[in-house]
Formats: sequence, structure tokens, C-alpha cells
Amino acid sequence: MKALVYHGPNHKSWEEVPDPKIVNPTDVIVQVDTTTICGSDLHILKGDVPTVTDGRILGHEGVGTITEVGSAVGKLVVGDRVIISCITSCGSCSYCDQQLFSHCLNNGWIIGHLIDGTQAEYVRIPFAESSLHKLPAGLSDEAAVMLSDILPTGFEIGVRNGRVKPGDVVAVVGSGPVGLSAMMTAGLYGASRIIAIDLDENRLTQARTFGATDSVNSGSAGWMDELMAMTDGLGVDVAIEAVGIPQTFGMATEIVRPGGTVANVGVHGTSVELKLQDLWIKDIAITTGLVSTSTTPMLLKLVAQGKLTPEKFASHRFTFDAIMDAYDTFSRAAETKALKVIITR
Ligand code: NAD
Ligand code: ZN
Repeated sequence: MKALVYHGPNHKSWEEVPDPKIVNPTDVIVQVDTTTICGSDLHILKGDVPTVTDGRILGHEGVGTITEVGSAVGKLVVGDRVIISCITSCGSCSYCDQQLFSHCLNNGWIIGHLIDGTQAEYVRIPFAESSLHKLPAGLSDEAAVMLSDILPTGFEIGVRNGRVKPGDVVAVVGSGPVGLSAMMTAGLYGASRIIAIDLDENRLTQARTFGATDSVNSGSAGWMDELMAMTDGLGVDVAIEAVGIPQTFGMATEIVRPGGTVANVGVHGTSVELKLQDLWIKDIAITTGLVSTSTTPMLLKLVAQGKLTPEKFASHRFTFDAIMDAYDTFSRAAETKALKVIITR
């Protein structure tokens, strides 16, 4: 089969590799119908994730069709169409018992990281029964593939960890796919105002169609006054950080009001200062987390009912043999206005 293979920092190729095989009885093999590229894939390609080694097939998002099942798999059969979660989990360890699948003692985030991923014609999925979700009839691949990672990430690590309640004013720092997912789902808990923050005007315009009621360009000198004017001068109830750099984490801690919550979603690659000397008095909570995808079944119901429309993230479309162009388009998102690139077989 063909797959997108990582060959060390700044090297990747779409090349012929051996087909995946069932290794454990709980595995299945999925023929990938639709996949996409994540910001983390770009981080891997820069060499920021040293646990990814030369020869690894990238990708942890996808929708596909089961072509083979291991001997212990009962609930899934050949021909089932499934959503692949970025997190695979054994379903029976102490963290899985708490629905904290990202910390599964036997899996977690491993596909496209420690084992081969979904940017390939076929992929092996471990612990398939507890890691795959059957695709409800009528749901498009383009909507479903957003449930592999971005939608549960924005909801679980942004909105839910941020403890958004009815009436809250929520600000999301960073209006990329993950920040936009938080905006799309903050309304589920009754946020009264959802303020998108970014440096990119195009992303701020897009944010209005993903649930943001207001937007602030943090590149402008008066951005903080502008934001405070939207919040009766006190700051926001919930500040969601969805960029992953020290500056934006600092911004989130500055705009949150006393008693509020900062929910950090961004993946930080460098040391970040926590100004406890200023924050100790604010009565705030700071949360962190890696998506568990435990809310995927709930989100799927809302998508199936048309209450959430994640297919809106699909901005560009490619076939597998043009995956290098898909990477090029996605990596120049500021110029190409890409949100999520859809890659199909
Ligand atoms: P992205 O790069 O597409 O979007 C980031 C946005 O932040 C861009 O629109 C960019 O213009 C904006 N930005 C950059 N610098 C800024 C600044 N100084 N001020 C304001 N805005 C700024 O990223 P994404 O795919 O949306 O992911 C967001 C973050 O979430 C990343 O760090 C990613 O690694 C992380 N993530 C976390 C989890 C998790 O489980 N915690 C899962 C997936 C992704
Ligand atoms: Zn587990």
C-alpha cells in the first residue's frame, strides 16, 4: 500500500510500504476512506516530537471501512464504517475506568506517533472495540473526521475543563481548528458571549461562523481595552488557550476575571512562566489536559441531529496521491486560508 512516511525532521514521502497486519487479537485493519492533517503532524515534521522515529506513518484522524478483524473482536465486523479516534484505549485499565482514555496504561495517543497512522491506504487499530466509533447512517465523512481529534479536543479540554456555565463570557485565544471547535461547542453549556482572539483577520472572520459572537485582533495595541469593554471591565469567566505559546498562555491568565477558569488546550514545546506572584490572589483555576475522546459518542449524536456542523471545517480537498500538496496547503494556512484539508482515497 501507499502511505505518508516520516523520515526525520523536514523529510516525508508518499511511498510504497508493507500492508498492516493484525498483531493482537483485539486489532482490526481499516481501509482509510478519509483522513486529514493536524497541527501536530506539522510539529512532528519539524522534529518537535522526538518520540516519532524515522519510518513512521503519520496521521491520527480518519474515517474508514473495516477490512479485517482480530479473533477477539466481536462487536465490529468487516464492512463496518468507523471513525478512528486519535486516542486508542484498552477500555479496562484504571484510567480507562475513569474515562481518561488519553492516559490509558496500554495505549493513549499512539497512532501516527508510536505506531503507524492513518495517512495511509490501510491502518491497524489496536483495541478496536474500545477505540473505534461506528459511523451513524447519513453522516458525511467530512463531518465525521472532525470527531477524530479537533471537536472533542475543543470541547473536553477547552469548554468542559473550563467549566463553562449558562451566562458565562468565554474568550478563546487562538482561532485555529481547535479554538474554533471550542467556540462551536461553548454554546452547548450556555455561554452568553464567545469572544474569538487571533492575529489573523481571516481566522477571526471565520470564527463568526463557528459560534463566536465577538472577535478581537490581539495584534492591535488596544486589544485588551477592547476585550474588557465586552466584559463589563472585569474580564472573562473562562479563558481558553488554544495556541500553545508562552505569550498566549499569559494573555489567558490576564483576561480571566477573579473566580474564573483558564483552560489550557495548547501543546507547549517550551517552558512557560506561571506568574503566581500576580495570580495567587485571583481565585482562578487553571486546567490542563490531553483529549480523551470520551465525549465522541455524545458529540456524534449532536452532529447526527444537525445541532453541530463540523463539516464546515473542510476547506480544501485532495486525493491520497496529492497528499504532498495537501501538506503544502495546510502548512501555509495563513496564505491559503486552510482550516482542515480533506484527503480521500
Ligand atoms: P493552529 O496553529 O491551526 O491555530 C493556532 C491559531 O493561533 C492560529 O489561527 C494563529 O493565527 C493563532 N495565533 C498564533 N499566535 C498567536 C498570538 N500570539 N495571539 C493570538 N493568536 C495567535 O492550531 P490548532 O490546530 O487549532 O491547535 C491549537 C493548539 O491545540 C495547538 O497547540 C495544538 O497542538 C493543540 N492541541 C491540543 C490537544 C490537547 O489534547 N490538549 C489536542 C490537539 C491539539
Ligand atoms: Zn486503558
